[in-house]
Amino acid sequence: MKVQVNADMCEGHAKCEKAAPEVFKVGDDDVSVVLVDEVAPELVEKVERAIRMCPRQAISWAKV
Ligand code: SF4
Repeated sequence: MKVQVNADMCEGHAKCEKAAPEVFKVGDDDVSVVLVDEVAPELVEKVERAIRMCPRQAISWAKV
């Protein structure tokens, strides 16, 4: 599965990075970037947590 961050909505609170540091990294520009092309099955739960924790609802699973 692929996950995406809407850069226009992201405000760099880094809750995503805290929930799933293997997947999200907030850059110097305060926008979170996705570090992986595909989310490994064992990280799906962490990404789900990041989606719930993001105060801006900026994270979503990418439609295939
Ligand atoms: S938690 Fe949401 S708003 Fe905050 S850095 Fe992550 S994607 Fe951006």
